Amino acid sequence: MKLAIVGGGIMGITLAYYLAKTGVSVDVFEASDTLGGLAGPLTLPDGVEVDRFYHAILSSDAHLIELCRELGIDGQMRFRETRTGFYYNRSIYSMNNIIEFLKFPPLGWIDRFRLGVTVLAAQRVRDWQELEGVSVEEWLIRLGGRNTYQNIWRPMLAAKFDGDFTDVPATWIWSRLVRVKSTRQGASQKEGAGHIIGGYITLIKAMAQRIEAAGGRIHLKTPVQEVCIENGAATGVRLVDGVHRFDAVVVTAQTPIFRRLIPGAAQEYHDFLGKTEYLGIVCPLLVMDRPLTGYWTLNITDERIPFTGVIETTTYIDPAYVGGHHLVYLPKYTAPGSALITKSDDEIKAMWMENLRTMFPDFDAASVRYFLVHRERYVEPLHGLNSTHLIPAVETPVERLFLVTTAQIYPALTNGESVSRHGHAAAAVIQQVLA
Ligand SMILES: Cc1cc2nc3c(=O)[nH]c(=O)nc-3n(C[C@H](O)[C@H](O)[C@H](O)COP(=O)(O)OP(=O)(O)OC[C@H]3O[C@@H](n4cnc5c(N)ncnc54)[C@H](O)[C@@H]3O)c2cc1C
Repeated sequence: MKLAIVGGGIMGITLAYYLAKTGVSVDVFEASDTLGGLAGPLTLPDGVEVDRFYHAILSSDAHLIELCRELGIDGQMRFRETRTGFYYNRSIYSMNNIIEFLKFPPLGWIDRFRLGVTVLAAQRVRDWQELEGVSVEEWLIRLGGRNTYQNIWRPMLAAKFDGDFTDVPATWIWSRLVRVKSTRQGASQKEGAGHIIGGYITLIKAMAQRIEAAGGRIHLKTPVQEVCIENGAATGVRLVDGVHRFDAVVVTAQTPIFRRLIPGAAQEYHDFLGKTEYLGIVCPLLVMDRPLTGYWTLNITDERIPFTGVIETTTYIDPAYVGGHHLVYLPKYTAPGSALITKSDDEIKAMWMENLRTMFPDFDAASVRYFLVHRERYVEPLHGLNSTHLIPAVETPVERLFLVTTAQIYPALTNGESVSRHGHAAAAVIQQVLA
């Protein structure tokens, strides 16, 4: 069995790893010059390699931790206690323990109590399907009240979804609350985040080594131009140097990319795939010579600030692992059709720097060693109310063609844990179908 896998992100490499382990011959085709995709590395002008986007691992990421153990790299995982804050009404508030929570100024006593009730209610949801048809807005107002919604949730949701979130089901905030809660451990409820030394690329390289040791091949700088389809079945991939035949093909890229790769598939299937939309992202990375906030995440509940949050990964990554730098990511998620994603790096830098000075009056521009803007169009799949029937299956209407992609991960959030878990499960599905 010779299988082509399109995409060398966490999904493609995890899938290849589990398939190669059981004797399947895999060829992974990655368009760029490095593995990792969204979780890939970036080489700074001084030669230091860092994550292009911020990535945290949680101590509750059981599948990922088990995978690292299996690969013998669990000794390279590091976890640290972290802190979360809120930027509200031009001030920063720490939100890390019950005392701070009880003092949080935007909310009165009753609202604080109701916010706590919301978090507890999320833990108690046993069947997420009951939240499928309830909008996130309705659910949060019902549990936490209108005041908490207006002051906390609404600005955070507007920032995350870049404006309109009326079609977002309550499952979204439920998954998030459950995941965040899982980082808070013991009676102290202390929060923690972690990383693998070197970033996710360390894990990806370890899997790549095992794939190659099992006889698999990984081709960098090799974009697949088309999945060849003959008589309703996938027969191979077309590369720049011509067609290469395979017994089956798996695409792990996002659905709009997948659609472009399969001109030979039925129009009906194209139309179906076209219903999946994604958030994009504009995410400058500030490489600094000192810490900025001391918070892993600073949530912004101020709609005047153009970015979604301030993420300082060197609160849990020892700067010694990243050339002594302090890494601050300033993401802005973008809705489909957003004009922001088309703005130049200089325009983004000017907007972002001005707002940093507003947020942090002591901010010294000289502390920024590099300001690097990254953008991606397809980052997080959007799932609407009652829309699970729009999730594409791993098995496609084209024989011997499979789709293994983040849009299939629901209601869990897309992250290294859920992606590697999905890649593992999909490997079993593919083998079963092809057996
Ligand atoms: C800003 C941001 C923050 C995040 N934070 C976290 C976090 O804290 N923790 C966490 O665990 N996860 C986080 N994630 C999520 C995580 O990065 C993604 O879920 C994961 O990387 C998705 O992997 P993937 O393989 O499915 O997709 P991708 O990484 O997009 O991989 C797809 C690959 O396919 C390749 N490709 C596309 N078309 C072709 C073609 N025609 N031929 C060949 N190759 C092709 C692409 O180059 C790419 O490498 C974050 C992501 C972002 C963007």
